Amino acid sequence: MGTSILIIEDEEKLARFVELELSYEGYHIEKAFDGRTGLMKAESGKFDLILLDIMLPGLNGMEILRRLRRSSSVPVILLTAKDSITDKVSGLDSGADDYITKPFAIEELLARIRTSLRKKAADGEKPLSASGVQLDPERRTVTANGTPVELTKREFDLLCYLLRNKGVVITREELLEKVWGFDYEGETNAVDVYIRFLRGKIDEAFGIKLIQTVRGVGYVVRDE
Ligand code: CA
Repeated sequence: MGTSILIIEDEEKLARFVELELSYEGYHIEKAFDGRTGLMKAESGKFDLILLDIMLPGLNGMEILRRLRRSSSVPVILLTAKDSITDKVSGLDSGADDYITKPFAIEELLARIRTSLRKKAADGEKPLSASGVQLDPERRTVTANGTPVELTKREFDLLCYLLRNKGVVITREELLEKVWGFDYEGETNAVDVYIRFLRGKIDEAFGIKLIQTVRGVGYVVRDE
């Protein structure tokens, strides 16, 4: 498995040129020419890095970045059309790792890609915590009041998503989409079932109030 890069760019000529150059360097490339397709692909979690144009049809780059950052820390390099300070500042505020101004030299893009991938490899993903519960996304470990907790993959992914969005009420639909995937075809009460599993293993086992129900809306994790 090589390094996969997603290019979200509506200037198809530019996207194809970048694809050609990056493929030549050994990267595996996929392209999206509009915002919605781009976000869907980006959220699939199968890319190591994303090149993101800002002005896009459907959904602009800033919105894609904002939504993507709720569930992913994949490195994102913004492709800014103009030398706009506002774009750069709000882009970096929204969680972009870097930006490059069009038109750019392919050597500069390659250098920035290498830097972002290196940084990501060195950082890893930081542990998440709430109410005495700690989750390490890299090692895939969970502790409650310092004691290790055994979770299944699905329970882990569900808890991880809730912790990443600490303080934000998440609907069942969003959890199904983000944790089970777009193509999940099954009972919608799967979310409630897995929340019960998690509560049994954490809230009840350790006397912690971690996962709260917001009636008629969904679930939220808050620091108590
Ligand atoms: Ca564009």
